[in-house]
Amino acid sequence: MIFNKKQQTIARNIDTDADISKWKNWKWQLKHSVTDIDTFEKISGIKFPADYKKSLQETIDKFPLSVTPYYISLIDPKNYEYDPVFIQSFPSPSELIMSKYDMADPLAEDKDSPVPHLTHRYPDRVLFHVSNTCSMYCRHCTRKRKVGDDNHAAGMDELEPGLKYISEHPEIRDVLISGGDPLMLSDDYLDKLLERISSIEHVEMIRIGTRMPVVLPYRITNKLIEVLKKYQPIYVNTHFNHPREMTKSAEEGLAMLADAGIVLGNQTVLLAGVNDCPRIIKTLCHKLLANRVRPYYLYQCDLSEGLSHFRTPVGKGIEILENLIGHTTGLGVPTYVIDAPGGGGKIPVMPNYLISWSTNKVILRNYEGVITTYKEPDSYEATFCNRKCDECDLQLNLEGAIETSNIGIQMLLSDDDDTISLTPADNDRFDRRDE
Ligand SMILES: *Cc1c(COP(=O)(O)O)cnc(C)c1O
Repeated sequence: MIFNKKQQTIARNIDTDADISKWKNWKWQLKHSVTDIDTFEKISGIKFPADYKKSLQETIDKFPLSVTPYYISLIDPKNYEYDPVFIQSFPSPSELIMSKYDMADPLAEDKDSPVPHLTHRYPDRVLFHVSNTCSMYCRHCTRKRKVGDDNHAAGMDELEPGLKYISEHPEIRDVLISGGDPLMLSDDYLDKLLERISSIEHVEMIRIGTRMPVVLPYRITNKLIEVLKKYQPIYVNTHFNHPREMTKSAEEGLAMLADAGIVLGNQTVLLAGVNDCPRIIKTLCHKLLANRVRPYYLYQCDLSEGLSHFRTPVGKGIEILENLIGHTTGLGVPTYVIDAPGGGGKIPVMPNYLISWSTNKVILRNYEGVITTYKEPDSYEATFCNRKCDECDLQLNLEGAIETSNIGIQMLLSDDDDTISLTPADNDRFDRRDE
């Protein structure tokens, strides 16, 4: 556990009696989270010009500020304007600039919510918002509309409709608990909640989305590990955006989780001025792998309000993937996704590798620019699929497997469905046919 000079200074600025045991106590960190500009100045050693402070105040009146002392200790005060930790945690007056395409709820999470606190977007899994708050308010939060709104921890009774919904929908095999940050809940509460979710027979796995390993790694305590271990399989996805965030303390927290057999993944948001650079992302991915964390998603920044200064062109993400695929460990390459505005879910975006195609050959290019030919089989007997698996030569023991209906492109590709096109709901040509 690190308690360096800078951290000692910050700790004593907050509390003259602060020692390492207070510093590494997550509740002490939360209690002393910085929520106003004057305290931020006092603790970080950064001084802002008076007129700038006025516009900062206007910003936090709309989008509140909250940073843990630990995360502040990662900022380099001498070069703070370009500091990735500073930029992610400290407001910018640019947040007040709304652009035409900005939306309060771009992913339509509220619309796809059948009961409070739950988003059911995909066929077999749900997002369960079990906590309203976070230990640090990321400036790039996609749920910015909600940040700081309602900081009480939802009582179990508030989550009952969500639990009931999950138990009444046997197709839900994967419950992703998120928030806010679920690890803001106490160990006992989390224990009860996980107990309730995992006791639903059809739930095969639980995922937790949390930024604690990044912004407050001391939250990963032995007691927390004891709780999580009881509900395997548990997957934890965290949110590192920059290699600078991978500190000794973060590494210790991740090691505790990995040692408990928890599968770790990371979701990064591509952010202008923070990590919009192939070398930064590659270094981050290497550090993640070295700590047993698999890079999972690289997100294009959402169209939430007040994030326009963080957005990059999509080409930046493709360029980053171009720099990763083939150039480094395949396990270290995240899937680059755009979360569809309006609620269509995550759409993967890739560089193009398929250059051309004939009836028996495909032409591909690799990461080095080598162009190659893959000869397809001269004869291939496709198995006609009518989804009657009992009559098929391919062996799929269907016991325990759930049959789902065909949807989307999968439906167009299938043999047992006559649909030949997908048509948008408002199509003038089709409307004329109906007349
Ligand atoms: C991201 C997300 C999920 C999980 O998606 P995976 O691709 O399975 O990780 C589920 N529900 C919602 C609403 C999401 O945004």
